[in-house]
Amino acid sequence: MSSALELLHRVFGHTAFRGEQAQIVQHVTDGGDALVLMPTGGGKSLCYQLPALLRDGCGLVVSPLIALMQDQVEALRQLGVRAAYLNSTLDAAAAAEVERQLLAGELDLLYVAPERLLGARCLNLIDRAPIALFAIDEAHCVSQWGHDFRPEYRELTILHERWPQIPRIALTATADAPTQREIAERLNLEDARRFVSSFDRPNLRYRVVHKDNGNRQLLDFLSGHRGESGIVYAFSRRRVETVAEQLVAAGIRALPYHAGMDASLRAANQRRFLQEDGVVMVATIAFGMGIDKPDVRFVAHVDLPKSIEGYYQETGRAGRDGEPAEAWLCYGLGDVVNLRQLIQQGEAGEERKRLELRKLDSLLGYCESTECRRQSLLGWFGEAHAGACGNCDNCLDPPRSWDGTEAARKALSCVYRTGQRFGAGHVIDVLRGVESEKVSRFGHESLSTYGIGRDLDARQWSSVFRQLVAAGLLEADIERHGALRLTAASAPVLRGERSLRFRAETAKPSGGARRSRN
Ligand code: ADP
Ligand code: ZN
Repeated sequence: MSSALELLHRVFGHTAFRGEQAQIVQHVTDGGDALVLMPTGGGKSLCYQLPALLRDGCGLVVSPLIALMQDQVEALRQLGVRAAYLNSTLDAAAAAEVERQLLAGELDLLYVAPERLLGARCLNLIDRAPIALFAIDEAHCVSQWGHDFRPEYRELTILHERWPQIPRIALTATADAPTQREIAERLNLEDARRFVSSFDRPNLRYRVVHKDNGNRQLLDFLSGHRGESGIVYAFSRRRVETVAEQLVAAGIRALPYHAGMDASLRAANQRRFLQEDGVVMVATIAFGMGIDKPDVRFVAHVDLPKSIEGYYQETGRAGRDGEPAEAWLCYGLGDVVNLRQLIQQGEAGEERKRLELRKLDSLLGYCESTECRRQSLLGWFGEAHAGACGNCDNCLDPPRSWDGTEAARKALSCVYRTGQRFGAGHVIDVLRGVESEKVSRFGHESLSTYGIGRDLDARQWSSVFRQLVAAGLLEADIERHGALRLTAASAPVLRGERSLRFRAETAKPSGGARRSRN
């Protein structure tokens, strides 16, 4: 029998195992159950492909993504591995042929969609076929709280109940502590050995900037990445179109990608991104799943992503070759209002909405934090990073902070005095004593808070409001176009019982962009 290392060379053409691959392969080949948490691009596939080749019988891989299934099988066949898949894209005759091969022991790996696997026909087939192992890919799909919840994943416990002697390996790149627990519980893998790789991507430099003039900021950022491949993520299809047009107008080779586009154009754009050098893909999060392009030099978010996990996944597409790459995020208060609106008007149930809002808040906390970005990100995945990283904006250019207690009180009381009906822009005008049409229409020049904030400029106030929202001291009412409201937490600040420190703006306001309201 060949050894794992020999197969790694001979079949896959790699010289050495990466990270914990060797231990995982050994453990599963020996018949043990495993739960593998490894970041995207870490090399999860080999962890079940090699044991499937080393053990007798066929490795059965449960995978939720039909498109990826086909790619994987295609790639394996080119390496000479006897691989096949069973899913709804096969006609009856093709499916019957795959079943025959499985029973005849002519397959090394069989990829199956979960709903297919759980059908009586397939279960029956497994009873009669030689099976080397069960691999459950994208295991986080079992979690109701993740973005990719698949109810059928819950029923995969049948694999263990019906064939307890066959080893199981569950794999995922989404691994915050609650999800880990849920996977182990739901898939009956409490006793499985856990292999948790570091989620750190040391070659990625994280930066967060405040949106002021988003388009110009993006162009400035891109000027440091001329001729390089990268991805720009935007919040909506419309934003994708607009940003792509602006980049093209600025002479950048940008292409749009979103689910609303014609499928063939979308596929063509994806192909160009993968094959040509220096294409900038402007996309919604519909883009990226299964994209394995090693030399993506940057991932830029021109709008706020939905959660820290999402942000980590999306930025993880940069720098897979290990060379330096940048993760750049530009966000403003307007983004928060948009996202909250999207969540609240969505179809999800109340509990789910609350959860999504909490996730958004955690991300906001990350954005406004003055601590090492890498430490915050890894901390979210339950991983400690010793010391500051030296490769994020907060490490490279430590933000100054200032005592914002007084400013916070002024801001909160002005929100209160104006009736908790207005967005930050108007409240800032009142604080600064601006004589606007809106101020006089509502008679706000007679308020006690009118003009009490002349000591700060509009940009500084905008930063104060953003941080108050991030800290949960104000909330944006989406029913009323982002009108700011006090929260229960704001009372102690108003009463002078709680002091606050704010992050000082580091970026210098540039010409013409001073009236930033975002
Ligand atoms: P994941 O599923 O964790 O995102 P993959 O299994 O798709 O990752 O692997 C990502 C890339 O890394 C693939 O291109 C794969 O060929 C490569 N790879 C995996 N293991 C090794 C290794 N030991 N040596 C070299 N390249 C590897
Ligand atoms: Zn850092």
